Amino acid sequence: MTGLLLDARQRAMLADMGVRLWLPTTPPLVAQAPAPVAALASAPAPEAAATKLPPPAAPSAAVAPASDDDCPAWPDDFGDGSASSYADLPPQAYESSSPAPVRPAVAAAAPPAARRAAPAAPPALVLQPRPAGLDQMDWPALQAAVAGCQACGLCQGRTQPVFGVGSTRADWLVVGEAPGEQEDLRGEPFVGPSGQLLDNMLKAIALSRHAGSEATPATSVYIANVIKCRPPGNRNPQPAEVAQCEPYLARQVALLRPKIILALGRFAVQSLLKTNEPIGKLRGRVHHYEGVPVIVSYHPAYLLRNLPDKAKAWADLCLALDVASGAAT
Ligand code: URA
Repeated sequence: MTGLLLDARQRAMLADMGVRLWLPTTPPLVAQAPAPVAALASAPAPEAAATKLPPPAAPSAAVAPASDDDCPAWPDDFGDGSASSYADLPPQAYESSSPAPVRPAVAAAAPPAARRAAPAAPPALVLQPRPAGLDQMDWPALQAAVAGCQACGLCQGRTQPVFGVGSTRADWLVVGEAPGEQEDLRGEPFVGPSGQLLDNMLKAIALSRHAGSEATPATSVYIANVIKCRPPGNRNPQPAEVAQCEPYLARQVALLRPKIILALGRFAVQSLLKTNEPIGKLRGRVHHYEGVPVIVSYHPAYLLRNLPDKAKAWADLCLALDVASGAAT
């Protein structure tokens, strides 16, 4: 359990990074996961961190329980500060058991009285074909195709599409939902408050979206969303919009061929796994998308509002780390 054996210098480094450790009073029953926090604390460079990770434990069962006992120690604060600083986040249903609502595209045909009573419906979608030959495209061609995409109406409100970020040699693919306001402005996924939390969570297991000179595939993450353009007002994407955009993510997966996919939030999960099961029922075991292992976890924006569930997200990360390193299947 090297994760708990931090000396004073390592603790000081973690404190500097805003990572606080919760230390159990009794040792966990099963020490299956490596000790990422200790590795991070003792090695600032991602590659060095990876080489300092202890050898993987014996392979766990194909269906691994993601209880707190699976992880040696979890940072109860991933350096994101207090929840109150994110109170301005839009109230999206990141952890709902219901599928994305299918709204009628013919609201204008409703009688006047019904129109007055009904909540405002989004405009009917005008769908256009996607560029041909997606499944043959390389990275630059795919990015150009997304840049010019007009397959659903979301292109009309975007500043720019948000294609993805990170090393195209990364072992890890993180899949989120859709760009928000800041992502739309900067053209990069997860740069708002939930992105800060995501980066801190990844950093806790020595992963980064930034390709430093010492980065290796094992320490690198590629981040992409199911939806490449910002839905107006950060509303939930409509099923038809998801369907129009999904092939871009599918091609990104085919080009990247990651060792592990971390699906964050229900839209990522529904899109990749084609299920409406709630995240709480799907997490803690290994799913697959096109032969790639998928770990399901909570969306960072949900975690910002539900701080106790960070412990579960940490267990999910530990399971993903086990799968990526071959210690679990
Ligand atoms: N939420 C997401 O799912 N993706 C982003 O890029 C930003 C916020």
